[in-house]
Amino acid sequence: MDEPQVPADPDDEAEIPESHPRYESLLTRHRIEDGLEKGITSRQGLIAQGRGEAYDYLLGERTLESADEAAQAAAAALLLADRPVVSVNGNVAALCPGEVVDLAEATDAAIEVNLFNRTEERMEAIADHLRKHGASEVKGLAGDGKIPGLDHARATVDADGIESADTVLVPLEDGDRAEALGAMGKTEIVIDLNPLSRSAQTAAIPIVDNIIRAVPNVTAHARELQDASRADLRAIVESFDAAAALDAAEAAVRTGR
Ligand code: ATP
Repeated sequence: MDEPQVPADPDDEAEIPESHPRYESLLTRHRIEDGLEKGITSRQGLIAQGRGEAYDYLLGERTLESADEAAQAAAAALLLADRPVVSVNGNVAALCPGEVVDLAEATDAAIEVNLFNRTEERMEAIADHLRKHGASEVKGLAGDGKIPGLDHARATVDADGIESADTVLVPLEDGDRAEALGAMGKTEIVIDLNPLSRSAQTAAIPIVDNIIRAVPNVTAHARELQDASRADLRAIVESFDAAAALDAAEAAVRTGR
């Protein structure tokens, strides 16, 4: 059978046929490009996406069993938290805005826009985009808190958001900031396709998976666990082994199995 024809530069994601063998990758590229046009994603974000895609290709563009276990532990940690926050950068907002809103609802977490290259314009554009996808409150614009140990621009967060959170989900965080957040004593959950990245290595719970698959997967686990006891949730978090999950992901990248 002939492969479905896809316009080189689709105007709308509906033009990408779901039957295309590289559907997910084409959709991702389209959303990132669209995010750039809307002022949501930075040009640096395109490079980050390229690195992620390379790892996803090597992982077979699937959710590993170890990543699914990590997603379950992440859901349990978010449900246990007193002040959970989901951090959103330009790539996350472009790729899965509605899915982030669903996750925040399922875990009663706040959503905070948190940018490596912070500009007020991009902060506003991302907050607007999230509101269009159903977010009722978006933090990050106040910028009245900080992450200790980083220079001013990269340290800025909200005092009643990431600064005072006990558990943060930081998909695609820069390694340096992931380390600084970990040093604040927070339970840090990272989503990153590269098991060797410093962010994944620093996290209490690293989910080595594409955010497009990982965010809805954490939400599905959170819904399954919503009536679980705190003791059961704690047991899930405590039995999760971050080093073993990273080893399994690295082995999958190296061997394709
Ligand atoms: P380090 O954490 O080692 O300091 P880095 O922060 O310099 O690495 P960047 O290239 O800045 O790495 O960040 C991009 C990271 O995000 C990469 O590790 C890449 O694998 C990951 N990434 C990019 N797109 C996705 C995606 N769609 N889903 C999950 N992870 C992704």
